[in-house]
Amino acid sequence: MAEATDPARPLSHQADPLRRKLISGGVALFLLPVIPRLAHAATILAVRTWPADEYTRVTLEMDSELKAEHFVLDDPFRLVVDIDGLSMNRAINELVSKVRPNDPYIQTVRVAQNRPNVVRLVFDLKQDIAPQVFTLKPVGEYKYRLVLDLYPKVAQDPLLALLKDAQNDPLAGILDELARSGPSEAPIPSVEGQKLPPPVAQQAPEPTAPPPAAPSRRDRPILIALDPGHGGEDPGAIGRGGTREKDIVLQIAKRLKAMIDAQPNMRAYLTRDRDYFVPLNVRVQKARRVKADLFISIHADAWIKPSARGSSVWALSQGGATSASARWLAKKENDADLIGGVNLGAHNQQVAKVLLDLSTGAQINDSIKVGTRVLGEIGKINRLHKNRIERAGFAVLKAPDIPSILVETAFISNPEEERLLRSAQHQQRIATAMLAGVKDYFAASPALARRA
Ligand SMILES: [Zn+2]
Repeated sequence: MAEATDPARPLSHQADPLRRKLISGGVALFLLPVIPRLAHAATILAVRTWPADEYTRVTLEMDSELKAEHFVLDDPFRLVVDIDGLSMNRAINELVSKVRPNDPYIQTVRVAQNRPNVVRLVFDLKQDIAPQVFTLKPVGEYKYRLVLDLYPKVAQDPLLALLKDAQNDPLAGILDELARSGPSEAPIPSVEGQKLPPPVAQQAPEPTAPPPAAPSRRDRPILIALDPGHGGEDPGAIGRGGTREKDIVLQIAKRLKAMIDAQPNMRAYLTRDRDYFVPLNVRVQKARRVKADLFISIHADAWIKPSARGSSVWALSQGGATSASARWLAKKENDADLIGGVNLGAHNQQVAKVLLDLSTGAQINDSIKVGTRVLGEIGKINRLHKNRIERAGFAVLKAPDIPSILVETAFISNPEEERLLRSAQHQQRIATAMLAGVKDYFAASPALARRA
């Protein structure tokens, strides 16, 4: 297996046995003229699709790096991708069946050998897109990946997503006013080639109504950004029983969101609400855009030894990590962008860099306060890995103005904790403990207590 996928091995050698086999049979002689030249053909190992409102990703994984050219057509909208050095095989044909009916962007896809060595993919689209096409070198479990990201032509504003989510909410009016009360200082996360949507305020349908008085921050509910780690191409840690971190943390985040939304004075916003990849700095940008009062990134830990166990809570460290294992963990979590597949340069890297340089001591102090309370509550329902909040350079905790913590709920690499993480009851217990810690923090925070 390793031999067949070794990119260093001349590919013509791989093709030879196949050709010999075909030539040896009578039927093969008849087939031979339609078999394209295989001399430089790469092999598609797998195709995956990750549909989401924000963008749909299509990944083609192969045994060598391939060049792709793409262009878009309108009337009707189509994305055409020509992949050079490729021949049709079963894996690429599977792409057709992997497009889901509810994909927000792709209607259908057609795959064909366009000319010898060039496979053409034609995506029939449901709307105009700003595509990002890029390749990724082998990393983690993955070989070479060709990634097609289909973003909407107009970027989505997380504020509008928040409002849509709160439509039948008694607090919708307050959230809505807040959104309209002047532009948020945080930019709308977008990629190259996308237009920005018109400001939220301009979409108000009543032009004759007097502008509402801007609500002060204390009139509105406490807004908590919940950040389920990993997603899409990045499964996060995987337990011995096959449990994937990205699935568990999304389940816990959804449970916690439901509990927070049931509070009279709190609302939650999810940085991802399904199984797709969100770059780390985009998670931070989203939380800033919705003016979150608190950011909680939810994860599950893993270690080589299955005996490692217990929950831990983390805050940002501007300098060194609190220990070597802390540094190791932060690196592992920060690698999410590599595994998940970030298109360097496509996202607003300048904004990201400014974000990362601005983290303040005040943010970290508040993060330690809320983190300590959350840790205390989790300690009542699960063993703690460390008895105090730890610190390291997690990229996702770098919002300069939002207290931010990262919760490693348990060790997914520990069979007992993996079983617990899968259980609805235990997920509910974790969410309840996190909520208790958060409420305790806001009750003790003079600036925010007035709102509570
Ligand atoms: Zn993680």
